[in-house]
Amino acid sequence: MTFDTLIKNGIVVTATDTYPSDIGISNGKIVAIGQAMPAESATHSVDAQGNYVFPGGIDVHTHLDMPFGGTKSADDFESGTKAAAFGGTTTLIDFAIQYKGQTLRTALDTWWKKADGKAAIDYGFHCIVTDLPDARLEEMKSLVHEGITSFKLFMAYPGVFMVEDGLIFKAMLKASETGSLICMHAENGGAIDVIVRRALAEGKTAPKYHALTRPTTAEAEATARAIALAEMAGAPVYIVHLSCNEALEKVREARDRGLPTYAETCPQYLYLSLENFDVPGFEGAKYVFTPPLREKWHQEKLWAGLAADHLQVVSTDHCPFCYKEQKELGIGDFTKIPNGGPGIENRLSLVFTGGVQKKRFSVNRFVELVSTTPAKLFGLYPRKGTIAIGSDADLVIFDPNVEDVISAKTHHMRVDYSMFEGIHIKGVPRQVFSRGQLVIDNNKFVGRVGQGEFLKRQLYNSP
Ligand SMILES: [Zn+2]
Repeated sequence: MTFDTLIKNGIVVTATDTYPSDIGISNGKIVAIGQAMPAESATHSVDAQGNYVFPGGIDVHTHLDMPFGGTKSADDFESGTKAAAFGGTTTLIDFAIQYKGQTLRTALDTWWKKADGKAAIDYGFHCIVTDLPDARLEEMKSLVHEGITSFKLFMAYPGVFMVEDGLIFKAMLKASETGSLICMHAENGGAIDVIVRRALAEGKTAPKYHALTRPTTAEAEATARAIALAEMAGAPVYIVHLSCNEALEKVREARDRGLPTYAETCPQYLYLSLENFDVPGFEGAKYVFTPPLREKWHQEKLWAGLAADHLQVVSTDHCPFCYKEQKELGIGDFTKIPNGGPGIENRLSLVFTGGVQKKRFSVNRFVELVSTTPAKLFGLYPRKGTIAIGSDADLVIFDPNVEDVISAKTHHMRVDYSMFEGIHIKGVPRQVFSRGQLVIDNNKFVGRVGQGEFLKRQLYNSP
């Protein structure tokens, strides 16, 4: 057998196994897994001695080139997918947004155009649904046939994205009928709106009030309501960017009852807290995203939730806005600060450092959280999310011993600050392959813009 590429002497890690092995790649697929394969059998041979070989990371929550409050997120599909690759992510699922009055198809066409010819790694889309007359409900079915097998709804941002419970319920019934998955932004938007207006009237306009006007109870209530609606509809539900222990408890209770309830958290909730707002002037705006940062004690609860499978996925909710000129739009009024933070590049190293190095969970659980479960839930498994014969050769050679410090000075995201500035990591991607093509080689991008393909995803599958 001959290979395009042979990865030699690595420690292969999947969600279930850890073993030394070589991996043979041909035509973008994994075609052989075994020991002591001769280097002469391959055009290219890569030595992974002393390194792990992981399936490529899958980030199921990103917002590239996304309009928000008169500006747009600072990474487009070129800079965003490159930065993702630098961090060991080889697949992302972004969000195509349907605005009021539009068809779902319009949303999809718009985002296809944004990504076309620009992506350096493979990508899919969820569809954010904001307007659901009966005709649009029927259209969900045709999107599922196009490979858009998940839809996101908002219980927050009244007047912009928020949809009422009846519509959420109808969408869940349709999801259950079509085998798709509803992703939920769970915060009680109505109550939060009242608290926000009261704060502004009292002259509380600084960035930290974005966080202080969005209580954990508002997230827990909406999480419980989303779960109840899904239970009545006989549908699974996936809670996005869960940030606090109160909401985690709702997910845990539902899962203990055997409901198909899933939730993701993000590195910002694992590493940052309200203390990050103790910075001079307007700089707290760097940490304005939704749900907001919480008190520090929540972090350990979320890590424990990841270890115990009360949380199933770590995504980033990457939605970068530069501090200069973008975040600054909210000087004097925190409601005008573009919501979001940059993280697409840092996910694997942060979860590996805090999870595996700190002995909170195994390296297999790490792979499950950042790659395998996302692939299973969102219809990409086993093409993505594992190392097996026939799977795409999306692979990360990961050195667990290299230490680094995260900084905006060295990151590749197109944004002028890092939320994780100064945080120490131990474990970095050394080489990254996307469908067999080397895209990152020792911190250099060697891939090709436009090589990333749109992924037509399969139906939701219970992991
Ligand atoms: Zn988001």
